[in-house]
Amino acid sequence: MPTPLPAPYFVAASSRAASLVGLDVEALAQDDFVSAFTGNTLLPGSEPVSAVYSGHQFGVWAGQLGDGRAILLGDADGPEGRMELQLKGAGKTPYSRMGDGRAVLRSSIREFLCSEAMAALGIPTTRALVVTGSNQRVMRENIETAAVVTRMAPSFVRFGSFEHWHYRDKPEELRVLADYVIDTFYAELRAAANPYKELLAEVTRRTARMIAGWQSVGFMHSVMNTDNMSILGLTIDYGPFGFMEAFDVNHICNHTDQGGRYSYANQVAIGHWNCYALGNALLPLIGTVDEAQEALDAYMPAFEAKLDELLHAKLGLATVQEGDRDLFDGLFSMMQAGHVDFTLLFRRLGELQVEAADTDALLRDLFIDRPAFDEWAGRYRARLRLENSVDAERRAAMNRVNPKYVLRNYLAQQAIEHAQNGDYALVHELLAVLEQPFDEQPGKEHYAALPPDWAAHLEVSCSS
Ligand code: AMP
Ligand code: MG
Repeated sequence: MPTPLPAPYFVAASSRAASLVGLDVEALAQDDFVSAFTGNTLLPGSEPVSAVYSGHQFGVWAGQLGDGRAILLGDADGPEGRMELQLKGAGKTPYSRMGDGRAVLRSSIREFLCSEAMAALGIPTTRALVVTGSNQRVMRENIETAAVVTRMAPSFVRFGSFEHWHYRDKPEELRVLADYVIDTFYAELRAAANPYKELLAEVTRRTARMIAGWQSVGFMHSVMNTDNMSILGLTIDYGPFGFMEAFDVNHICNHTDQGGRYSYANQVAIGHWNCYALGNALLPLIGTVDEAQEALDAYMPAFEAKLDELLHAKLGLATVQEGDRDLFDGLFSMMQAGHVDFTLLFRRLGELQVEAADTDALLRDLFIDRPAFDEWAGRYRARLRLENSVDAERRAAMNRVNPKYVLRNYLAQQAIEHAQNGDYALVHELLAVLEQPFDEQPGKEHYAALPPDWAAHLEVSCSS
């Protein structure tokens, strides 16, 4: 059961998430819902549970973990299907280990905003319905206050849920879980000769495509432990995540990840590694190592195909031509050399005019090595001419895939600092901006600005 918090208050709610479970967003600010979504009262029919799972953390087997601060309330039907509703930070559970079962306002606002931002970017993710807070103090690196974020997903089953039963040597429980997941979420696989192998293959493909989506917007999850990998291929468990600003393929946003296991460059291979961990757990059901290996081999082709598709769209290329890879690589090399802002670059690239190199100034100014840019831009123009690309049409198409607004760390930080002083207006405004990441949004341009100097010193770490 959730543990009540004193005097809960409303922080923010997502109308888009609310509509997925047929709730009116205005109602979420009312006392009865605030109480329910803090865990102080139970919604009718709710039977709270926390789930056990295990996992590999930073590549090392960690044994049993489980929902140490997450409590599932139940599920609700909506226009896009059934959604499970889960409180995060509602108190201790049988799996809390040394933890307090709480979440702080800061991390809850980060999870809330990023879940909804990712959904608006079209990247598979768990959703966030509402955040409530309480003045109850919570000890972290500093003293902070408690908050609860209500998350939603069709399922919160993780790779680690399967690892748990496998490492416990409980083949029957493993089968029950796999059958539940197949029958409920992958029903089309039931008819296959080996549904468990096909489950592994499909989860592997979904994971690969999700990570291609991350790479395409510069998102770094930062804690891709197998307990933070969704069996539905959803981005889950937002912690010290970040969006790439000054481009560096080796960027790490979690200051406790000293080896850079979950850096921008490494997260692709780690996604595959995690699928291996799942494959290992499913092996008793799949049968042979060869079949599991075959399923896992789906990863790189699925990743590359998806990333290739996304990069073509990001560069406004309507056809696929030989040499496109070189063009993409050349752009990323220049971004790396000049540590160019990821989001700004792709957005400005849409302004390029095929026949007017003299209008490149704003774009060109992002690079330190201007001659290198001119050379690359020449190749890009030649490529655009090859498919008779029309400037205005291409710009419109590019603006539908290259966001203007992402959740920059400093924007989250500003909203959090206001919220910590009892003013939630910035959280609401930022949510509204991030819900339309591809639109120009006059008057909101400051949310697309480069980070200020103070932001260079912002640090985020695990589990807050
Ligand atoms: P994470 O890497 O943040 O997803 O968390 C790893 C594990 O630690 C999960 O089993 C969490 O439920 C658990 N955990 C994290 N923070 C807390 C907390 N404050 N209280 C209890 N368990 C926690
Ligand atoms: Mg987790």
